[in-house]
Amino acid sequence: MTYVVLLGGPGAGKGTQAQLLEAALGLPQIATGDLFREHFRNDTELGRVARSYTDLGELVPDEVTIAMVKERLAQPDAAKGALLDGFPRTIAQADALAELLADASINLDIVPYIHVRPEYLLQRLAGRWTCAACGHVYHEPFSPPKQFGTCDKDGSNLYQRNDDTEETRKHRIEVYFRQTSPLLDYYRERGLLVEINGEQSIEQVQRDLIEAIKKVA
Ligand code: ADP
Ligand code: ADP
Repeated sequence: MTYVVLLGGPGAGKGTQAQLLEAALGLPQIATGDLFREHFRNDTELGRVARSYTDLGELVPDEVTIAMVKERLAQPDAAKGALLDGFPRTIAQADALAELLADASINLDIVPYIHVRPEYLLQRLAGRWTCAACGHVYHEPFSPPKQFGTCDKDGSNLYQRNDDTEETRKHRIEVYFRQTSPLLDYYRERGLLVEINGEQSIEQVQRDLIEAIKKVA
């Protein structure tokens, strides 16, 4: 059982790395942003509530987010471990996660912090393209698909997220510094934080992450 929380600003590469780690380590990626986007597609009540926050680049309220993660962690595939991507994003969420795991006698193993400076975060968000079908993430020009606008894996269309617009991406980075960055000290104090240089190639970041996780798992 290995439980990992991936920390990093919007665009740091959490999703990209979690998808690769999922394949390398056989652990499910649990990405709250993806879970919300699934709710939007299914037009659920939760999705309608969440959307009014995500569209503005604000965080969805803790109680809504925590309830959704609690349900996801209770699924059978999460019994062998999980890669949490985008959760927790507040101290209240981190406390709730600690409680959820403690109730199941599970320890969090490691919290890699993928460090990327804000000016690069903006560039990452500006060029992000995502596959509408499989969710694979590309970047123009850092990690482009073979054919513009088309997923290499399944040929589906790529789209740009509507919260990656110029105004919203700046705001999301501010929200990250205000509400999420306090988690760095939170996990440092608990001896779980490991800093990873996120300004390297996708492959090198992946190697560093696997090395760090294998040391503890
Ligand atoms: P990114 O990968 O760019 O950081 P995500 O896909 O993780 O973005 O999240 C998209 C949006 O979903 C966030 O801007 C926020 O509105 C909402 N969201 C995702 N995770 C959380 C969370 N743990 N708490 C509150 N809101 C969240
Ligand atoms: P997050 O989930 O942290 O918001 P993503 O994984 O969606 O970040 O990555 C944001 C964008 O940056 C994507 O377009 C992705 O292709 C690109 N990207 C991710 N990691 C790197 C990297 N190491 N170098 C260059 N671009 C990257």
